[in-house]
Parts: sequence; C-alpha cells; structure tokens
Amino acid sequence: MINPLFQNKFPFSANYFSELLSLVFENKREFPQALIFEGADTKMQYLFSLELARILNCIGDKSSNCDCINCKWIKTHSHPAINNVSEIHFKGEGDESKTVISAKQAREIEKALMLSSDYHRFFIFFSSGEKEYDPFELMDFQNLNYSTDINYSFNPLNYGTFHQTTPNALLKSIEEPPKRTTFIFLTKSREEILPTIVSRCQVFKLSGLREKIDYSNIATMFSLYPNFGYKDAFDISQNFQNYIKENNEILENVLNKMLVYLMELLKQNLSMNDKIKRDIAIINDAIKHKKANMNDKIILDTMFLRMARGY
Ligand SMILES: [Zn+2]
Repeated sequence: MINPLFQNKFPFSANYFSELLSLVFENKREFPQALIFEGADTKMQYLFSLELARILNCIGDKSSNCDCINCKWIKTHSHPAINNVSEIHFKGEGDESKTVISAKQAREIEKALMLSSDYHRFFIFFSSGEKEYDPFELMDFQNLNYSTDINYSFNPLNYGTFHQTTPNALLKSIEEPPKRTTFIFLTKSREEILPTIVSRCQVFKLSGLREKIDYSNIATMFSLYPNFGYKDAFDISQNFQNYIKENNEILENVLNKMLVYLMELLKQNLSMNDKIKRDIAIINDAIKHKKANMNDKIILDTMFLRMARGY
C-alpha cells in the first residue's frame, strides 16, 4: 500500500501506518482525526500525508501506481477533499491575511465540514509562500509519480504561522470532526505548536535513517581538508571529539555526515577523486570500528591519521 520510498525515509511510521490502514479497511479501527508530524523535512511529511490521503480515498488496488480517479486527482494536486491550509492556501473570500493562517480560515473549514462528503477529507497545515518552480527540489514528488506542477514552498509550522485567534477557532473542528476527516500539522517539533492543539493530536516523529543531512558543522571543522598533515590530525580529532560532547552527538551520526560531505566533495572536485575515494573507504572502516565498540577517541585519531598519511 504505502510506497516503499517511505519505508526507507520513515521506517517506523511507514510500518505503523501500514498496519493501521489495514485495520481501518477491516473496520477494526478509525483513522486518527488529528495528527502532528514532526521532523526536519516538511516536504517529505507533506508527501507522506498525501500518500495516506491517497490510500484512504483510493477506489482501486491502493498500490502506488494505481490510476483510479482519486489517486489521479491526488497525484495532480486537484482532489476536492484534500486541502492545503497555509498562509496562502484555503483563503476564504475577503480574507486579506497573507502572513498568517487566520481565524477566518478556521471558520471556512468549519463551514466546509458542515457539508457532507463521500471522501476521506484531509486538511494539511503547513507554512507556505510563493516560490519559483524548482524541478530539483521537487524530485521527491517525481519519484512518487506526483505532479511537480507546484509553485509554493513547504515550511514547518511554528507559533508565528497561526494568528493568535486561530487555534481556538480550530478546536471545535479538530475535536468533533465528521467521520472520515483528518487534520495534519507539519512541524519541526511539537514545541512549535500551541499545547491546546498538541493535546488533541497524535504526534509522530517522521525522521528516519535517511533524513536530509545537515553537514555544515562538519564542513567547518573539516575546513583544512584535504590539506592537513600528520601534525594536524590530532587537533582535528580533538575538535570532533569536543563537538560530539558539546552537541550530545553520537559518533555514528558524525561519521555518516562526514561520508555525505565527502561524497558531495567528490561530485565537485574531479581532480582529487582518488584521494577522496580513499578517505571515504577510511571513514567506512571507522564506522566498522565503532560497530565493534572501539573507543571514540581511538577511532577518530586513527581515522584522521590515516587520512593525513594517505593510506
Ligand atoms: Zn487508486
């Protein structure tokens, strides 16, 4: 049912929702009426929301390449029951607010819910603005066979996204929606959303093994690369050890970030290909050493020394 791409991205949630959807289709469970997805990748959270909406509305075989009318509509962002709600989406007539999700929008939702619907309705809340079409950024949509015809951005909700009167106006809809209605709030962390809303939602952490990696700190600490010598190796190792301590990091994560950083470099620096490839192998050795429970300091010292020596 759920596209395997999500199994890679969010293994826990993908499995959880697969199970849940099976129970929903057997009429053993209701699908939740209010969800919060928290994590770093709002666009992927959005796609996961659409995927759930697609499966709940599908009248075909529910597979990711189903082309029933509902799947088609959702994949082309034109399904009448799947609603984006943001600073620029789902604005009622005469609503001039452009920088917040307004209380008027909450009332529009309430009005919409008074009409009956044959569909499982979704209201997906995120922060958004107008944006140039960017095919590179929309590659995840393409990989899932969704239309990339999108000119708005996907940003996480925070306190500022809602007008201060909006959450109260929303509560009734969230608490007692008609059957087959789901509200989803996309955010980095539940801390960014008013507790009155959080307390009415089930919260899922949508972060997985392949969450987009921010390696900017790594790049800074590793700025000497590849021009560092034997003598620098211990200093660099010490910097990384401090970083791990100060940021409550774990060595595996840091090594993975280094791998990603070097792979990016590899794409850009054709002249140093052999050196970078060798160092990628050295990092992979370090990951093995960590798995064998070697001490962090020894792993890092050895790794940077080997890089400095070149073997
Ligand atoms: Zn379908």
